[in-house]
Amino acid sequence: MNADLHCHSTRSDGWLEPAAVVRRAAANGVELLALTDHDELGGLAEAAEAAREAGIRFVPGVEISVSFKAETIHIVGLGIDPEAPALRNGLRQVRSGRDQRARSMGEALAAAGISDALAGARRFARNPDLVSRAHFARFLVASGVMPDVKTVFDHYLVRGKPGFVEHEWASLQEAVGWICQAGGIAVVAHPARYRLSGADMDALFDSFAAAGGEAVEVVSGAHTEEEMLRFASLARRRNLLASRASDFHGEKESPVDVGRCNPLPPDLLPVWSRLL
Ligand code: AMP
Ligand code: MN
Ligand code: MN
Ligand code: MN
Repeated sequence: MNADLHCHSTRSDGWLEPAAVVRRAAANGVELLALTDHDELGGLAEAAEAAREAGIRFVPGVEISVSFKAETIHIVGLGIDPEAPALRNGLRQVRSGRDQRARSMGEALAAAGISDALAGARRFARNPDLVSRAHFARFLVASGVMPDVKTVFDHYLVRGKPGFVEHEWASLQEAVGWICQAGGIAVVAHPARYRLSGADMDALFDSFAAAGGEAVEVVSGAHTEEEMLRFASLARRRNLLASRASDFHGEKESPVDVGRCNPLPPDLLPVWSRLL
């Protein structure tokens, strides 16, 4: 089964409209696709319709921003009901915090000598409720400040750099709770990307499971082979379902195209066994 259970559209910081992401996935041989925009459900109806037209299966999803031990963690929800009130209300709060953060980032960048960055980022954000650091990065590239998005992050947008603003996202318990209340399965996204000690990583997965979380992205566009093997063992040890996820944002910004990640190790239980 070519399942890809994590990607983005213009409803958050992806480059393609929801229907175009689905068509690209279908052309790449994807049989089961989840759209998982950051903190936003607005692309799901269009994507579901496009999946019907393309003849592929579709899973409604979301990627929720969470704060855990001063680190930002992403929790994907799969098979959620986009109408569930707890999830909708929770995400509305997260987006409102995101908007506040974007304003503060604009001020922080101005103090670092880059003026009008919020307006610039907004020009790249197709959804006015969802300004991401990726939109700031694209603006800084377009204005010639830095050569590419990765370099902007390294110099301006990560902790300790002038455009970084500390922000309190949802709690882990809230995010997993909203997903469960919406009938979905909670998944720890790209676990190798977090700067957590071994003990804090254990604490993350302990709290995640205690809150009702059940799955982890073992194969991710953001993982090396070695990282994949590390989280495959973690999935076995903790009896977690395993997900496969390109985290595709667009051709120019993503190392792995939608549907083109490696297969899961065959002994793991795929999360899509619960979604079909
Ligand atoms: P935000 O949720 O607004 O803090 O933005 C996070 C998004 O920025 C991620 O989902 C990626 O799309 C992008 N991003 C984060 N770190 C990097 C990086 N080092 N290089 C390129 N894009 C990044
Ligand atoms: Mn993103
Ligand atoms: Mn993420
Ligand atoms: Mn993502």
